[in-house]
Amino acid sequence: MVTVHTIDELQKEKENLSGSIGFVPTMGALHHGHLSLIRQAREENHNLIVSIFVNPTQFLECEELDSYPRKDIADNKICELAGVDILFVPTIDEMYEKDELHIGAPAIRGYVLEGEKRPGHFDGMLQVVMKLLNLSGATRAYFGKKDAQQLILIIQMVKNYFMSVEIIPCEIVRDERGLALSSRNIYLKEEEKTRALVLSRSLKRATKLVMTGELNVEIIKKEMHMVLKDVDELEYLSIVDRNFNILEKIEIGNTIILLAAWVGKPRLIDNIWI
Ligand code: AMP
Repeated sequence: MVTVHTIDELQKEKENLSGSIGFVPTMGALHHGHLSLIRQAREENHNLIVSIFVNPTQFLECEELDSYPRKDIADNKICELAGVDILFVPTIDEMYEKDELHIGAPAIRGYVLEGEKRPGHFDGMLQVVMKLLNLSGATRAYFGKKDAQQLILIIQMVKNYFMSVEIIPCEIVRDERGLALSSRNIYLKEEEKTRALVLSRSLKRATKLVMTGELNVEIIKKEMHMVLKDVDELEYLSIVDRNFNILEKIEIGNTIILLAAWVGKPRLIDNIWI
């Protein structure tokens, strides 16, 4: 594995590659969720590029960019052991000019749910993903369903800008008790980690109801709210179709149940695709 920090170095290393390129963009502090994307990309491509970049433009002013967890040495080791060919770790100056043009999230799908709570977040996310996809020259790029809205907006960007990369959605990885893995979980105290389990438990409850034939969204949400009463603050619980239209009735194969909640210091998100 080679680790590169500049775009020039990345382009030079890419000249040595032949065949397909799998690409996994991350913000580091790697866990088994990231690793599952990396492993899948390794299996499905001749070459594998991973990036680690904590992108400032997707953090709101009130959000703590500086305290985002960083684990450079461990991340490097994980990537090396996972068979990454090129690890790209650029600086902010390498990625951005002062006076840039901007890519905007779509007016509707980019400003509901996460986009409503974190206005501007998806503009910054799409901006950096566009840059990283172009730089990597990826044949396939891997994104987790954990960030469902992010994934759907990236698929839309690739379609709207006629980009040739294939976006591969990857399943959510959870710990043994069901908590969706996230770099932010390190901020959870033990007691909070136990309380945070209600997020996945509520989604399981919803799935069970659907499996027994209950498709009424109001009834499902009511049951989920009962499971979720232990979180500190539930920011949203929404049942939508794949275009983020609010549903009254579950449509099997076209539904996502998403939620965001505060438990202690971190804000957690989770979802299930039905
Ligand atoms: P991040 O470092 O948080 O920007 O995440 C990088 C990629 O890993 C994104 O595509 C995420 O959706 C994905 N990811 C993060 N956590 C998980 C998880 N628990 N399961 C699957 N994918 C994940």
